Amino acid sequence: MVDVLDKLQILGEGAKYDVCASTAAKSNKIINPAIGSTSPSGICHSFTPDGRCVSLFKVLLTNYCEKDCAYCPNRTDRDVPRSRFTADELVKVFMEFYRRNYVEGLFLSSGIFHSTAATMDEIIKVAEILRYQHKFGGYIHLKVLPGAGAAEIQAAAAVADRISLNMEAPSALHLARLSRTKEFNSEILGTMAKIGAHVGQFNNVSHTTQYIVGAAEESDQDILTSANSLYNRYSLKRAYFSAFQPVDKTPLAQETATPLIRENRLYQSDFLLRLYGFHLGDFVFDSRGNLDSELDPKLAYALNHPDLFPLNVNTASYHQLLKVPGIGPRSASRIVAARRSHRFNDPRELKNTGAVLKRALSFLTINGQFFGDRKLLEKPRRQAYQQLTLWGDERDFSAKLITG
Ligand code: SF4
Repeated sequence: MVDVLDKLQILGEGAKYDVCASTAAKSNKIINPAIGSTSPSGICHSFTPDGRCVSLFKVLLTNYCEKDCAYCPNRTDRDVPRSRFTADELVKVFMEFYRRNYVEGLFLSSGIFHSTAATMDEIIKVAEILRYQHKFGGYIHLKVLPGAGAAEIQAAAAVADRISLNMEAPSALHLARLSRTKEFNSEILGTMAKIGAHVGQFNNVSHTTQYIVGAAEESDQDILTSANSLYNRYSLKRAYFSAFQPVDKTPLAQETATPLIRENRLYQSDFLLRLYGFHLGDFVFDSRGNLDSELDPKLAYALNHPDLFPLNVNTASYHQLLKVPGIGPRSASRIVAARRSHRFNDPRELKNTGAVLKRALSFLTINGQFFGDRKLLEKPRRQAYQQLTLWGDERDFSAKLITG
């Protein structure tokens, strides 16, 4: 049992760097807790396709790896304790946790041990034993390894609710800065194409990816261009962004950590791409291709387009309304629905739609009248932003990914 606990310690810890499933924050309230500590054994939380929040057993099959990704704690020549589960061992541990109600689902990732094919087979075997021998009907997320074949991808998709292949970097040039052993076009993009081709054959299976942000001198524009291409070409469900954090005993150990605000701006932009009808050309990048860290991307768009605003709230289309700061998909739908029987005459009527008036009113006219700051769009962008922030709730801009 000690052996299994050691493996759990090593392989649960090793899995925490993958954010393709959202991870619960570690509690620091009690040092060395005897019970209730989930982080060492890798229990995290994620959302299933039907929106339920489930606790996941997030673990590596092995932290041995033949690749040399410069940011990775599992890279081949890093001097750390190594371990691996057999499929049977891992299933036994998972079922034990499941029966005790510690977890409801599995997120299984891995380093590459011996070969991609051999490791993929073992990953798939874990899920097949759970599904076919234990009749486990809960959530399973399987990592697809770089260079996986079509048959392995099909087998994984047949038993998983979600599969994911990490892009890590947006292009071959950027990946080459991080690894001498990972090949972008064949192992990453080629595998992504196979996933895109096969995942649609299976009901209720989606695929996601992750980028390490700031490790390869890539810009925000590079990352968003890559993610946008995956959405359009390979039916990617969602991209995750992980701000680079230097890891001890790796080639990037002395590099500076990427500020979390950069990760946050990428998530905001990604939401705009996927849910708000934004196009790549709508984002405001600086001369180096990066988003403004002080300005959320939707507000940056609106302030950068004084020619498009203010919009008439009684005639603007759903898609036009979505571009208004303070209006999200739900409030835009409610405005459009309400207009079928009603004409908006007063800002207070908009409150019922869920629109954030503090921001929206400077970008709308209501029954021919303007209720915002007439000079706002003529002001320098940062000054306008500060004004909106002072009027509004600072948390609306910083804590939430997208508020409207
Ligand atoms: S392939 Fe790269 S990122 Fe994945 S475990 Fe191995 S070294 Fe780490």
